Amino acid sequence: MRPPGGGTARPRGHGCPAGREASERPAMRHGQARAAASVRVPEREGLVWGCESKPARLSDNEKQRAWNQSMESFRQPSMQGPEEPAPEDRGLRPQRMAEMIGQRAVYERLEIAIDAARKRSEPLGHILLDGPPGLGKTTFAMCIPAELGTTLQIASGAALAAPKDLLPYLTNAAEGSVLFIDEIHRLPIAVEEFLYPAMEDFRIDITLGDGVAARTINMPLKPFTLVGATTRPGLISAPMRDRFVIREHLDYYSPAELAEIIRRSAAKLDMPMDDATADEIARRSRGTPRLANNRLRWIRDYSTSRAERRLDVEIARVALAMQGIDEMGLDGFDRKYLDTIQRVFAGGPVGVEAIAHTMSAAPDTLEDDVEPFLLRCELVIRTPRGRKITPKGEEHLGTTPATRGRLF
Ligand code: ADP
Repeated sequence: MRPPGGGTARPRGHGCPAGREASERPAMRHGQARAAASVRVPEREGLVWGCESKPARLSDNEKQRAWNQSMESFRQPSMQGPEEPAPEDRGLRPQRMAEMIGQRAVYERLEIAIDAARKRSEPLGHILLDGPPGLGKTTFAMCIPAELGTTLQIASGAALAAPKDLLPYLTNAAEGSVLFIDEIHRLPIAVEEFLYPAMEDFRIDITLGDGVAARTINMPLKPFTLVGATTRPGLISAPMRDRFVIREHLDYYSPAELAEIIRRSAAKLDMPMDDATADEIARRSRGTPRLANNRLRWIRDYSTSRAERRLDVEIARVALAMQGIDEMGLDGFDRKYLDTIQRVFAGGPVGVEAIAHTMSAAPDTLEDDVEPFLLRCELVIRTPRGRKITPKGEEHLGTTPATRGRLF
């Protein structure tokens, strides 16, 4: 297991909450979702939230009363929930975009969009950020409101089970503020549909009453910017994707960029460190700033407890070896994945579900967290018939055909 990190990383192995698989997504078609998009509020209020659009003939007073009643049942504090970063993570997380290292092309495009929005005094267009966990999606989302001088609300797609869960965020959104929805691919379709008019026209449609007597009123919202983050861009529906004006992909960091992040984090943690040590930790951090910071914290603990606070390349290597992290930065879980394909499935091809069952892990933990880096390093490949280990992957496990030949 990797050391626990802040932000949005999911635990690996058993305990991982199963995310929405590609195969699950079409289970509810848009037509069916319309029924689910309506959520009945307590009966005394006689209201239904929904996406259905029917003309309403209500007086302004009636509208206001209905609105106030329903708001009382749904209003919640905004900055809340498990998505808020852990205090220590907040300490290392850059607060402004200029403090962010790497992702230069993304940085420059966002900077231009932010600058233009500021100069025109208009809300920034909606932004979709995708990429593997721990690469800075939340960090960008938190820096954007700081650059705009506006407020931020944080929500998670997994926690927004129904339109009513999203409602307080939309109605609390101040003019020009940012609403960040992490894991946006996990939004149920009913919530997605509720979000469409909010994103496009800054309004929501609320259905009052039920059956033939149902009427819909439109509630205007203050113009806001939605920043969505996802590790699975392929699971985002086309209508949702099209409503994002800016779409950016975050890629793995180079060892030099990671070494720079490690040097800055070490300075914040009051850990004097030479360049060779920073380079060594960077090489073993899978191109991921979150892992680099987590590994740095572990090395600090090791140095405090076992090395009288000394720190050099050798001490860093020993500390990382204790966690089962090898010279490529793979941990025991990564190697178990490679070993399962190699040993149990004779090198593949094999489907991800079969690998996950054998490892007692959730398939989406493998797809989100393990496979992207191994694919990038060419240790495995994906074929139409499943995953296959490559000669480089076999070599990394020390089980190349040549080695096996020598053994037997
Ligand atoms: P994601 O949302 O993509 O899972 P985060 O934005 O939560 O990733 O990043 C995890 C941690 O990595 C942050 O707390 C921050 O300390 C560090 N980090 C991410 N991107 C950068 C960056 N570009 N420069 C410096 N540190 C970064």
